[in-house]
Amino acid sequence: MKYFGAHISASGGVENAPLNASAIGANGFALFTKNQRQWVSAPLSEENIRLFKENCGKLGFVPDSILPHDSYLINLGHPEDEGLGKSRAAFLDEMQRCEQLGLNRLNFHPGSHLGLISETECLRRIAQSINMALDKTSGVTAVIENTAGQGSNLGFRFEHLAEIIDQVEDKSRVGVCIDTCHAFAAGYDLRAGDESGIFGGGFDAVFEEFGRVVGWKYLKGMHLNDAKKPCGSRVDRHETLGNGEIGIGCFKKIASDPRFDGIPLILETPDPDLWASEIAQLRANQ
Ligand SMILES: [Zn+2]
Ligand SMILES: [Zn+2]
Repeated sequence: MKYFGAHISASGGVENAPLNASAIGANGFALFTKNQRQWVSAPLSEENIRLFKENCGKLGFVPDSILPHDSYLINLGHPEDEGLGKSRAAFLDEMQRCEQLGLNRLNFHPGSHLGLISETECLRRIAQSINMALDKTSGVTAVIENTAGQGSNLGFRFEHLAEIIDQVEDKSRVGVCIDTCHAFAAGYDLRAGDESGIFGGGFDAVFEEFGRVVGWKYLKGMHLNDAKKPCGSRVDRHETLGNGEIGIGCFKKIASDPRFDGIPLILETPDPDLWASEIAQLRANQ
């Protein structure tokens, strides 16, 4: 079973997310469970939680098809105590919101060293941050997203993801989400042929490397985005599927490959008016 969806709006309350997802023909979705640009949001009400679960049940969305995304402000590898403490508290709150909603995964960008600490130290801090959140929650997997490597963001190499996972104590509750645009921008050439990127060339070779370095059992979601900028540009600009540098071949392969079954496959492409047709196109290639 393939779960196709998009990062849809939850404005007016999380309970609206399944309604908005259903309206575009999705059988999965991503959402923010709070305002993604604020440190603190009001807690979810009993009513929000009840209606969210009720709408998901009515419309057939199972937890495995839903990939909540945390706030952009959080940096779990922050080099300074204050920023790290604030990030860890906000991340725990996000994990607890997922718990309350009956969801089983939370997607986040690993973190940035801001030029103040080494990559190794930053990755260690990220892993410790994950350990702290997992300690205080249950049933929710921390899903690390690969990045494009803009600025001082880590997570743009599969090795970074592996190094974090290696230091997480409960391996049953850590996973990864691979964003195709980020991987491509970072230098993994995901075009469907035998191209050669900086870190590996062609879809098949890139995912063979993923399996070797990270491991398929950790794959808990995908972000399906074409890329506006060339492979290795380290610039994160999403494009509609088939209209960018990656091309439709990559997405057809994902749609038909059973290794991507049973996890949320989420569009974060720039034109919401096209999501329904992008999902229909993916589904036709299953
Ligand atoms: Zn993404
Ligand atoms: Zn992105």
